[in-house]
Amino acid sequence: MIKSSAIKILNSFDLKVCAKQLIVIDHIDDIKKLNNQDCKNFFIIGEATNLIMNEYYDGSIIKVAIDDIVKIDNQTLSIGAGLNWFKLIDYCLNHKFYGIENLTSIPGTVGAAPVQNIGAYGVEISSFVDSVTCYDFDTKQIQVMSNKECKFNYRESIFQLKNSLILRVNLKFSKEFSPILSYPSLSDYIVTNNINPSSITPKALSNLIKTIREFKLPDPSTYPNVGSIFKNPIVKTNSIDSDFLSGHKWKVSTGLIKLSAAKLIELIIDKISIPPTLAIYENHSLVIINLGDATYSELKNLISDIQNLVKLSFNINLEIEPKIL
Ligand SMILES: Cc1cc2nc3c(=O)[nH]c(=O)nc-3n(C[C@H](O)[C@H](O)[C@H](O)COP(=O)(O)OP(=O)(O)OC[C@H]3O[C@@H](n4cnc5c(N)ncnc54)[C@H](O)[C@@H]3O)c2cc1C
Repeated sequence: MIKSSAIKILNSFDLKVCAKQLIVIDHIDDIKKLNNQDCKNFFIIGEATNLIMNEYYDGSIIKVAIDDIVKIDNQTLSIGAGLNWFKLIDYCLNHKFYGIENLTSIPGTVGAAPVQNIGAYGVEISSFVDSVTCYDFDTKQIQVMSNKECKFNYRESIFQLKNSLILRVNLKFSKEFSPILSYPSLSDYIVTNNINPSSITPKALSNLIKTIREFKLPDPSTYPNVGSIFKNPIVKTNSIDSDFLSGHKWKVSTGLIKLSAAKLIELIIDKISIPPTLAIYENHSLVIINLGDATYSELKNLISDIQNLVKLSFNINLEIEPKIL
């Protein structure tokens, strides 16, 4: 389907955004539409929950609507990129495909999940990606990329650099349920609520994650947001004196530590000048919410202010997590 003439683009920050044209890929054969189009000026979106977009996009917005789930074998599923992530979690819980319970309640589509290697509560999607089927705009061919070729890292993959449209994500799940409960806020919740870890079922774990997230993260339909605005910075252990972040830093590998971006913001929060249309969410300082009619420039300025203040105060660079268009 191709729609032209100022198409409204819904996004989870509720910014008023229009685009010149929208191209929806309902079927793999629809790729021909892209070959016939002048696709020099295009941008791919899923559900726009990790995007900050300006008022008008003078080009084609491409969206994949393929949303089927094909069972390849007892451990492997091939999933259409347009499927909503919540629906995949439900399917996996109901059909005994284990491993992604900690990724419950992450908004967006399956196709966007490998792009920034979504992760939460100690689990990343990269551990389950067998391969990704995509259309390469440069070669005009459909290509199957192996996990290794996807070059996954913390909130990173090759798809952030490569000119390609993800059509299917092929995931290989665990044979047995082996819950990962070590992430600090998850293990604290389990201890505080006297939950016996060995009694936790996949559905119970998914529900626990849902409960923790509901407290920490605002629902975009009530408080429009794009999730975490910044990545947690990873720095060389000896590059800064990080004692002031005790309890808010984690060893990543020899010589590298990950710092809590939320804590860094909390430490400078009084110095930030916030316009009346925006706020920093009270339960999670990494989340900026739109209080109504916030503009692209207001949001971008606030993000830059926070980055500058953190740099000035701690000499640490905060990298923006959502894609800014
Ligand atoms: C309340 C809230 C909580 C969140 N929590 C988390 C979290 O815990 N962990 C986490 O990792 N993220 C989190 N996010 C971010 C977001 O949910 C994920 O990044 C999600 O994968 C985005 O999906 P989307 O379909 O909305 O992608 P979009 O926002 O539409 O796009 C994101 C990026 O993916 C690209 N893209 C999308 N679809 C395709 C495709 N088919 N082919 C190629 N490129 C594509 C886009 O070009 C863009 O660069 C959260 C967001 C919100 C609003």
